[in-house]
This record gives sequence, C-alpha cells and structure tokens, in this order.
Amino acid sequence: MLQFYNSLTRKKEEFKPINENEVGLYCCGPTVYNYAHIGNFRPYVFADVLRRAIEYRGLKTKFVMNITDVDDKTIRDSRQKYPELEPMEALKKFTGEFEQFFWEDSKKLNIKKPDIITRATEYIAEMQELIKKIMNAGYGYEKDGSFYLSVAKFADDHKYGNLVDIDLKQMKSGTRALSDEYEKEDVQDFVLWKAAKDNEPAWDFNYNEKNYHGRPGWHIECSAMSHKCLGAPFDIHTGGIDLKFPHHENEITQSVAGYGSEKMANFFLHNEHVLVDGQRMGKRFKNFYIIRDREEKKINPLAYSYLVLTVHYRSKLNFTWESLNAASSALSSLYSAVVSFPDGGVINAEHKKEFSEAIGDDLDTPRAIAIIWKLVKDGKIPAADKKATLLDFDRVLGLDLAKAKAVEIPEEIKKLAQAREQMRKEKKWDEADELRQKIEAQGFEIQDSADGQKIIKNNLKS
Ligand code: AMP
Ligand code: ZN
Repeated sequence: MLQFYNSLTRKKEEFKPINENEVGLYCCGPTVYNYAHIGNFRPYVFADVLRRAIEYRGLKTKFVMNITDVDDKTIRDSRQKYPELEPMEALKKFTGEFEQFFWEDSKKLNIKKPDIITRATEYIAEMQELIKKIMNAGYGYEKDGSFYLSVAKFADDHKYGNLVDIDLKQMKSGTRALSDEYEKEDVQDFVLWKAAKDNEPAWDFNYNEKNYHGRPGWHIECSAMSHKCLGAPFDIHTGGIDLKFPHHENEITQSVAGYGSEKMANFFLHNEHVLVDGQRMGKRFKNFYIIRDREEKKINPLAYSYLVLTVHYRSKLNFTWESLNAASSALSSLYSAVVSFPDGGVINAEHKKEFSEAIGDDLDTPRAIAIIWKLVKDGKIPAADKKATLLDFDRVLGLDLAKAKAVEIPEEIKKLAQAREQMRKEKKWDEADELRQKIEAQGFEIQDSADGQKIIKNNLKS
C-alpha cells in the first residue's frame, strides 16, 4: 500500500491513482533569478523520491514542473545585469542562464528530469484564458489595468481555506500593508494579471475589446500550466511548506473558480524546511549554500541527497557541516560495500518487503536507510543478493549506487593505517592517535569495527 500525508485532509491517506496508466504529478519549480540553494533542493529531492516510489510500484508517472521565469525578482535582476538589452530579451537571457544552472545541479543530485517543463512565459495564452474564465464566472475584477480574484465572492460559493484554517473576517480587518503593491479592493484578494509598469517585459491581453498590457501573477501560472498538462483534478501536487499558503491555496481557488472542477489535485504534499543554525535557509537570509559550492570543495553532491533521506520530509532538517560530513562518510561506506559485492544475485524478498513498507508509509526514508544498513550487515544473505537488492532499492533512493566506484586509498594512507594498527596492538595510544590525525588531515577517516579497521575517504572537512 502507498499512503501519504495529505495536507488537504491533514491525515495519512491511501493513494489511489485517478488513472492507473499515468499518475499526474505537479511540483512547483524554482524562480530562476539566482542559484537554487541547498534548501530549495529539498522539495526537488523529495518530489523525485515520491515519483520514484510510485514508479517502484509499477505505475507510470507524468511529472510536470514549472519554471517561474517572470516575476518581480527576475525582472529586477535581469534589467540590472543586462541594461543594454530590451527588457524581454534581458529577461529571457537572464532566466535561461539560471535555469541551465538549476538543471545542472539537479543532475548532480541524480534527480530525474520532469516529463514536461513548463516555463511561465510560454503559457501566457493559457493563463489569459483562465483569467477570462474567472472573470466570466464572476469571481474576478479589474482595477487600474490589473485583474484580481475576489476571495470574498469566491468564498460565498466555495471553500477558501483548504490547506490552512482561515478566518476571512480576521484577514479583512488585517493590515493594509499586505496589499500595498497594487490597488486591490480587499486585503485577501490576489492579483491574476499585473498592469505593465514602464519598460517592463509585458504581453498584450485582450479582454472585452480592450488591451490590458501586462504580465501574469505568480499563482495563476501553476493553475493554468498544471491544468494544461494534467487536467483537473490531477493526482498529486507538491512543494515546500511555505507554499501551502497563500500560493497553493490560491492555486486551488483559481482552478476551482475558473475550470469549475471541484478540486485542483487529490493530494497536496509539503516538505518541511532546511534550517541553518535554527533559521530557515533562504536567499534573503544570506545563509544559503549551493550545490556547486560544495563541489568545488570536492564534495559529492549526493552526500546532500543522502542527508535529506535520513530525515523524514515532514520534519525540519537542521543543516550542519557535521551532518553533511557524516552523510558523506556513510555514502562512501555504502559505495564501498556495493563495489565489494559480486554481480549475479537475486533480490531478497524479505528485505524488499520491509523496504517497500517503509517507503509506502508516507515515504519513510529514514527507515528505508536503516533497512539498507541492516541488509549490508546481514550475515545470512549472499553478497551478490545484497548487491541486487541494494540496486533495486536505489530505484527509489536515487543515490546512483550502480555507478559506485571503489575509492582508491593511496599507499601512503594504507601504510599510516597499518602503523596505527600496530601502535594500537602495542597499546601505544598517543602514537596511534597521532597517526589517525595524520590520516584525517589528508581527507581519510578510520573506522574501527569488529572486523578490524576500515579506511574511508572523507573529503568534506571544510
Ligand atoms: P523559490 O525558488 O523561492 O520559488 O523556491 C523553490 C522551492 O524551495 C519552494 O518549494 C520552496 O518552498 C522551497 N524552499 C525554499 N526555502 C527552503 C528551505 N529553507 N528548505 C526547504 N525548502 C525550501
Ligand atoms: Zn506553484
């Protein structure tokens, strides 16, 4: 059984696909105005594991991810970087560069590419179509060339507050500061289409024989693009927890208001944040690390994926160098184990059952990782079967175990380790410690176990 915690119902529910032949998944993608930071990648690692877990059950998926390539930040920064270009050209060039970096980093994390990538600027017609539907249904209004959705009108007929509990009355009496950007009538209303400011990239929007030159609001993008690619309702919508409100709530509102379907998606799954020193990692907070940074320091980006898997997606992940260090050591050990096992085995049914249960239980990856190590250490299973089983599990975990290479341990390090072993036999603990420090200084680590000492590469000291 596959069950997921559904943010719509606030409980774990069995997942039953709408169409067995193709499970529709939509993940809110990045806004491409900067490098995606390590925190940003958690939703993508998580959505990738979700997709793989569904495929592991023998189901096909259709995975859609958007690229937000037009918004206040992309416009602002593209004009700053390419002042000599036309605004639209600058935007395309600028966002294209960061999108490219995003796919490169995703690849390093072994994240499967979406089946469909929807760039907001390529779906303007669909967004305009949806805005017209919302207007015709009586839930929208136009003011000073911009279009808004009236939450109060919508809430007369439908539920507003599917993902979070909302007290509309309280919102109304809330501060006007929330609505400072554009002239909406009510504080909780949100923009569907923004009138163009001077010298901004903008599109024509013909409505009731008038042209409203402008650009789409952020929320409308995902409603229009998910509908175009997956219809409504589709199976699962994912994103970081901060997107629950207002972004996902407003996506639902627009889809229901415009397309008239009862629901946008059957399941909404949200991952918790990555924290650094107790604070959310974010571009605004100046505490963000990026994947390519780590690579310069010779860190395998998949150590980050491993770290993400060791924490359940609905729990906060407090990022520390020690935890990344530990994840890297564990991953190196796992690679060494896989390399040491011969080919030609069969998948162990008992371990597979346990693994499937863990993954099926709301993607319990920490339990799945524990099962991996139990398997590696299981004395009753032939080594070749261990390898076959691990490679099977990796179809979900995506740690690229099939490409695992034995880490070459230089002769010099081996000699130091032998000398250390000798010192330990002679109970010369100080000397043994000194040798360990020498080994560590060169990026290797010694692990002592009942089978003797093991040298593993540790290139994370930073
Ligand atoms: P953005 O590029 O800002 O639109 O964000 C892309 C994704 O990253 C969204 O799903 C966010 O919810 C998510 N996100 C942003 N910061 C963090 C964080 N510190 N930890 C986990 N996810 C995050
Ligand atoms: Zn979205």
